[in-house]
Amino acid sequence: MKNFVYMDAAASWLKPQSVIEVESDFLRNSYANAGRGICARAGRVDALIDVARATVADFISADKENIVFTSGTTDAFNRIVNILRNTYPDKNFTVAVSDLDHHSARLPFANWTKTVVMPLDNDFNIDVKNIPDADAYVITAMSNVVGIAQDVPLIAKAIRKKNKNAIVIIDAAQFVVHNKIDVKKFDCDFLCFSGHKIGADTGVGVMYIKNPDDFSADKFGGGMINRVDGKKMILNKSPEKFEAGTLPITQIIGLREAIEKFSIRDNSRALTDYMYDELSKIKQIKIFTPRDSCMISFTVDGMHVIDFGALLGAHNICVRVGNMCASWIHKKLNIEGSVRISVGPWNTMDDAKYVVGVIKDLVK
Ligand code: PLP
Repeated sequence: MKNFVYMDAAASWLKPQSVIEVESDFLRNSYANAGRGICARAGRVDALIDVARATVADFISADKENIVFTSGTTDAFNRIVNILRNTYPDKNFTVAVSDLDHHSARLPFANWTKTVVMPLDNDFNIDVKNIPDADAYVITAMSNVVGIAQDVPLIAKAIRKKNKNAIVIIDAAQFVVHNKIDVKKFDCDFLCFSGHKIGADTGVGVMYIKNPDDFSADKFGGGMINRVDGKKMILNKSPEKFEAGTLPITQIIGLREAIEKFSIRDNSRALTDYMYDELSKIKQIKIFTPRDSCMISFTVDGMHVIDFGALLGAHNICVRVGNMCASWIHKKLNIEGSVRISVGPWNTMDDAKYVVGVIKDLVK
């Protein structure tokens, strides 16, 4: 039996050694709060945050003032809802969503807005010919179950044609792992992703805001305020306006390292293709993701996916099973849950052969 095979990259990446080293070196030797201190060490921390922000901006073709640090994609979506609520307190919002959405991208809207659903075509693409009327649109650029990249510029164009003032919000949590992001080409108002899915630590994420001056703050506290004048608050400009309180400094510094070391690795494709071809030959396995998907999602005839996951776990294989926080796509597929294999840069062909071998034995 292998020691441990982690094929759950889509849930969270294992951390590159250099990210661990950069964070522990910072904690040991250079730690101070950011945006607060006046001493030289505090100034160096401010500079590190600034460089990290510039690295993130460059990574998605944005400018520094458009990059707000969050604690992750879920946090960003909850914040976007509050930002919209504070900006448009009297408006009855309608938000267009799709069955590709993760719970994090849709549930934050649930108690506030009316939702309409953008239909999908047979290949799990948002159907640009049938964009409904809405004030805001959530585009899940890559579903965490289906693993297919949406044509975001095309969808954004179709949305703008329907409503030129619409607010376009991109969930790039999975997309960022496999595709280059260019927010200018995406023509989006908000875009978010989590650091932990590209090798950074947990507790840090990114929210891009195209026109930060057009939106109200959602969080209030230290660092975001320029001065208090009686009852009036004079806010700082973005990004400070959206960054109340102490930032996850160490994780932001680790995020810069993760992005600098990040590359869309080819070995993942070769391993995924190999496993897809081998698993396709097993009659009890029903794969519903296309071969070019970034992940392999399937059901197993005669076995509950949770039991199947537990059996794989007993062979030291870690994959994701269940509804993956994406109930709508499972409902559409008429299944309760699925098994998802997602390969990361640490996986080898030996791992792939081992997993295929164990699955073959389990369904025998
Ligand atoms: N959106 C998608 C498509 C995801 O895959 C995930 C996490 O799996 C999320 C949002 C939520 O990300 P986080 O848990 O890092 O906030």
